[in-house]
Amino acid sequence: MSTALDKAAAGATPPAKDPLAHISAALFVPMGVYGVYARTALYLSVRDRLDAYISAMRDPTAEVMRFPPVMSRAQLEKSGYLKSFPNLLGCVCALHGTEASIRTAADRHESGGDWTAALTSSDLVLSPAACYPVYPIVAARGGRLPPGGLLFDIDADVFRHEPSLNLDRLQSFRMREFVRIGSPQAILEFREAWIARAPVIANDLGLPFTIEVANDAFFGRVGQVMAVSQRQQALKFEMLIPYHTKASPTACMSFNYHREHFGNVWSIHDEQGEKAHTSCVAFGIDRLSVALFAVHGLDVTRWPAATRQALAL
Ligand code: ATP
Ligand code: ZN
Ligand code: MG
Repeated sequence: MSTALDKAAAGATPPAKDPLAHISAALFVPMGVYGVYARTALYLSVRDRLDAYISAMRDPTAEVMRFPPVMSRAQLEKSGYLKSFPNLLGCVCALHGTEASIRTAADRHESGGDWTAALTSSDLVLSPAACYPVYPIVAARGGRLPPGGLLFDIDADVFRHEPSLNLDRLQSFRMREFVRIGSPQAILEFREAWIARAPVIANDLGLPFTIEVANDAFFGRVGQVMAVSQRQQALKFEMLIPYHTKASPTACMSFNYHREHFGNVWSIHDEQGEKAHTSCVAFGIDRLSVALFAVHGLDVTRWPAATRQALAL
């Protein structure tokens, strides 16, 4: 089912009063649906440098994997995503059946009817975050962690059904993550180290920032209780960056502690036989890229020397 926003989206461009409108046209080409854009060469010239900057911070022991934009529906269901964010999920559907039934369904479109009524779900969903496929991969390798645990460098183009005109809320966006799986002690050390590193990153990039305790936007009334509990336990922190002086700051990185949730779901144990704990540090690649242009302008040659140096521009 599509929302009114989806339907109104043809040729969507941010409203002229949007303070980011001037950079939007140089970075993003609207594709007819809110929050879905082609990226320009100028945008990619910075995004790719940002990716390289993040790679340079990678621990040499990390295993690198790049995921496609889709993942197993069964794995995401097992992860508990439908309890927390059913409103954001996109499921891949297809026309299944005989040649005749598929032809009949598709032809409904030609006669002004709704061909989508004949769709049924496939084995795939659009990945809503980069790290969900990592845990079942570890489980499939036996689920027993080596001494010291595991570290991954991953990314994916992810989807969340949150149509918006704002450049910092896309439906399809790039998420880069470092994911740590190990003992509770190892996980807390990993997250603390990254939270301590966040100011260095923001300073390298020349971006104003704050770091705050946060919560996920869990769905519905039960979700509000989950959000309060997440905050009380300080399980999520964010690095927030204001795109311009009057803007409310945008979360550009998050530092998440899942406790033993994924260890439980996927039966992953550390070398002591205890349920593994997990944490992920997520870089909102598109939000960080937009922040760089919003704060420093479109002319990359005039960016601060330190930023140009950090990004090797
Ligand atoms: P928000 O509170 O802004 O919705 P979030 O808590 O849902 O963010 P996470 O689930 O932690 O975000 O995702 C990791 C990172 O991905 C965020 O810190 C952000 O930089 C980026 N991100 C999240 N949602 C979007 C979106 N709709 N468009 C672009 N980037 C996003
Ligand atoms: Zn994650
Ligand atoms: Mg969100």
